[in-house]
Amino acid sequence: MPTIDKHAKISLERTGKDYQSIHEWIDDPEKKAERHDITKIYEYGKIIEKEYGKEGLEEYIRHLHDDVKAKFEHIQHDLEKAIAETLAYFGVK
Ligand SMILES: [Zn+2]
Repeated sequence: MPTIDKHAKISLERTGKDYQSIHEWIDDPEKKAERHDITKIYEYGKIIEKEYGKEGLEEYIRHLHDDVKAKFEHIQHDLEKAIAETLAYFGVK
């Protein structure tokens, strides 16, 4: 998944603001799992919107989106590698 700095860079390119504190809050190592829980978007989203406005809310959701995308691309890569290795093991071409 993208690093905090990478998320901040993406926000900066998209909005002109890096929203570093939002990305640090989401990726806080102690609370990382609950802050990436999409069932909490409504609850956390209200808090973030109150403090950072609509654009901050969008950057919070975008962070989750970018993490999901990166994670599944990684899973896909690992799966394709495992399939290729298994087919090669059995001599399947
Ligand atoms: Zn994250």
